[in-house]
Parts: sequence; structure tokens; C-alpha cells
Amino acid sequence: MYDIAIVGAGPAGLTAGIYAVRANKKVIVFEALTAGGQIINTSHIDNYPVAPHITGLEFGQTLEKQAKDLDVEIEYSEVTHIVKENNRFMIRTEDETYFSRAVIIASGTSPRKLGLENEDVFVGKGISYCATCDGAFYKGKTVAVNGGGNSALHEALYLSDIAAKVYLIHRRNEFRASDNLVDKVKAKDNIELVLESSIIELLGDGHLQGIKTDTGREIELDGLFVSIGRTPNTKNLIDGLELVEGDYAKANEDCHTNIPGVFVAGDVRSKELRQLVTATSDGAIAATEAVNYLKEVQ
Ligand code: NAP
Repeated sequence: MYDIAIVGAGPAGLTAGIYAVRANKKVIVFEALTAGGQIINTSHIDNYPVAPHITGLEFGQTLEKQAKDLDVEIEYSEVTHIVKENNRFMIRTEDETYFSRAVIIASGTSPRKLGLENEDVFVGKGISYCATCDGAFYKGKTVAVNGGGNSALHEALYLSDIAAKVYLIHRRNEFRASDNLVDKVKAKDNIELVLESSIIELLGDGHLQGIKTDTGREIELDGLFVSIGRTPNTKNLIDGLELVEGDYAKANEDCHTNIPGVFVAGDVRSKELRQLVTATSDGAIAATEAVNYLKEVQ
């Protein structure tokens, strides 16, 4: 029996793990993919205090090592479902069942898809959701990024140093991304803005060859990077968990969900600012609240 089970080994989950073991709790962190979370796909982090110019991968790997050095146990399996029975939680993975007295959901988010016909067919054949992961395949080629948020503009800038030409396709004529990113994008000679345009068709046979927009324009492409936001990983995780619009787990800054003993941390929580620094902050708060909860239910 673990004191605290944490779903997700991103910055929120690993920080929660570190705080919980330092409070002398028996902790397990589950990770379906690679420890470090979404940040490992970020080329450079400029806005985390005292870590200037660190790469996302370095950040994730350093945090994973720090957690392991402090005896946080990490199990590399996907949690498929959690069931609460009395005051304990049954955590199911594909192969095993674990038990804990409290749970912290730090499962993050996954890329939102366009929802177009053939999208899944073209994944890995011209469509990608991560420029840092797949950008190198498009050296000297023509690509597009779809989206107008911070992630899309980061991706466009990153790709503009690899590809010959980058189209940035966005459905409005204003960006959600921060002004300094917009200025950097506009200063790049090889980024062309395609505004007030939505992609309505993916063209190609076997491999993506282009896209068609709702303005009737067709653009020939070697690759399309979809960066239109993310979907929280809350689906079917635990029965009765209250979600808000967009399926984020509902919780205030204290990270308490509607289920006693279940806390939520990081991007998967309903909140205004999804940043690395707010994810680690959530991790610390969720772990502290979980430790306090365990004192009460003892
Ligand atoms: P986001 O801020 O939600 O932006 C999503 C973008 O995709 C928006 O421009 C949106 O258009 C567009 N979009 C949504 N659905 C669409 C659809 N079906 N078809 C076409 N376009 C669609 O998502 P994000 O950029 O992934 O960022 C997620 C969070 O992480 C944000 O809070 C962001 O600030 C943060 N972040 C911060 C940094 C940083 O450097 N500080 C870096 C990356 C991410 P509309 O604008 O028209 O709604």
C-alpha cells in the first residue's frame, strides 16, 4: 500500500513526488510515456527561474534524476483506471493493480487533432504534433504550422531554422501568442502568415502533399505541424471526477478535486496560466495537501 500514487511524471507529478517523499510518505509515480512530460519537446526554456537557456530535455531528465535520487519510485506504465473504495484507491495499469491512500492526478494534456479525414493516416507521413521531435525530417523543405498560440509560434520559429519555408496558418487575424513571439515570427523572412484561414482538407496519397483552406487556397507542403491546443488527459481516469469545460479537472489553487483524497496538479487542472513554473508550484501544493489529508483520515 502506497501513501500517495501520482499519475504522470511531468514537472507537476515529479515535483509532487519530491515533496511527498520529503514528507516521509511512500510514493509511486506512474508514467505512460517518457518522464519529464510535455516540456521535453521544448527546444529552449527561457522563463523558468535560475535555469536560463536550459533545453526541455535537460530539464525533464534532471528532474527525473533528482526525483529518483530522493527515492521517488517511478513505474513506467499507463494508468488505465482508478477506483475509490472506502478510503483507499485501486490503481489499475495494463498489467497490475496498485493501492494507495491518496492520489494526485498530474496526467497533463495531449495534442488536439484537427479532426479531418485522413489525419490519422498521415501521422508520421507528413503530419506531426511536435516540431522538436520531427522537425529535422524537413530540412530544406516546405512545411506549415497550424495554430495561433504560444506553442504554434514557438514551433514556427523552430522550424524556420530548419525548413526552407514555413507557412503559419491561423483561423483568426490576431494571435493568442505573446507579443514578443509574434514580433519574432513577423521578423522571419521565410515564415509566411496565412491568416483567417482554416484547413478543411488534407491532400496527398500515401504521404501528405498539401492542404486546402476554407478560403479556397491550396498550399503544397512536405509537412504539417498541428499545434491547435491540447486536450487534458482525464478521460475515464476516475469515476465521479468533476471536470470543467474542455475536460480539465476542476480544482482551485489548493489542488483539491471534488473527490476526497484526489488532488490535481499541472496542466490537467482547471486554471488560467499553464506554465512550467505553475506546474511545479501545483506539484508542491498538491503533495502538501495530500500529506495533510492523510493525517486527517488516519
Ligand atoms: P492555446 O494557447 O490554446 O492556442 C491554441 C491555438 O490553436 C489558438 O490560436 C486557437 O485559435 C487555435 N485553435 C484551436 N482549435 C482550433 C481548431 N480546431 N482549428 C484551428 N485552430 C484552432 O494552446 P497552446 O499554444 O498549445 O498553449 C497551451 C498553453 O501553454 C497556453 O496557456 C500557452 O500560453 C502555454 N504555453 C506557453 C509557452 C511559453 O513560452 N510561455 C509556450 C507554449 C505554451 P484561437 O486563437 O482562434 O482560439
